[in-house]
Amino acid sequence: GTLPAGDPVRRALEAVAETLVAHRDELTDLDREVGDGDMGISLARGAAAVLAECPEYPGEQGPAAVLRATSATVRRSIGGTSGPLYAILLLRAAAALEETGLDDPARAWSAALRAGTDGVREVGGAEVGDRTMVDALAPAAEAMAAALRDGASGRDALAAAVDAARNGAQGTTAIRARLGRSSYLGDRVIGHPDPGARAVVLWLSSVASSLPA
Ligand code: ADP
Ligand code: MG
Ligand code: MG
Repeated sequence: GTLPAGDPVRRALEAVAETLVAHRDELTDLDREVGDGDMGISLARGAAAVLAECPEYPGEQGPAAVLRATSATVRRSIGGTSGPLYAILLLRAAAALEETGLDDPARAWSAALRAGTDGVREVGGAEVGDRTMVDALAPAAEAMAAALRDGASGRDALAAAVDAARNGAQGTTAIRARLGRSSYLGDRVIGHPDPGARAVVLWLSSVASSLPA
């Protein structure tokens, strides 16, 4: 396959990957405070793999096929809890794009974010308030869908999603974890944001920044 350099999905993937590489140490430090300190390294490894492999993703087959190829890269290159959860997020997002069709791209991508989030919830078993990436993803998906229902443009709806993710991630600072390694630390996580939720803010805002003017 081939995914040309100017393709909007490739631009978004590259923006996400570059951001995750740039924030590797921040995410690793956060995960060191509340987990095992591998998340930044793990996501940066996945990002490097996506940067290397995305030129050969099957762009001619459309965005859903590109997300499936990204999922395969992620599954191979990202370990820990994040790897399988991002792999399923991308697969479910791809399925939603196909089901919704791309006549109304904003609506399709909103459905993709919703479906990806639901996949993470289902596989990881986390709900909002458990102090995981779901605390950023779920409000973001809700906010994007709500903004579109209210007549917002795709760009504005995505901006609303980023704001909601940021608020959700900020909220994790004040709560104990019910799932994952952080749950072993009890009150010792209070005062630090959940690294997985922080990563969602980073990648979602870089998707927003990658949109053509
Ligand atoms: P590990 O804890 O296996 O090293 P990572 O460091 O890759 O995993 O990812 C840690 C992040 O994964 C946490 O900050 C949290 O956001 C997220 N997480 C942990 N458990 C779950 C779960 N059951 N469902 C969804 N997200 C989770
Ligand atoms: Mg970790
Ligand atoms: Mg780990």
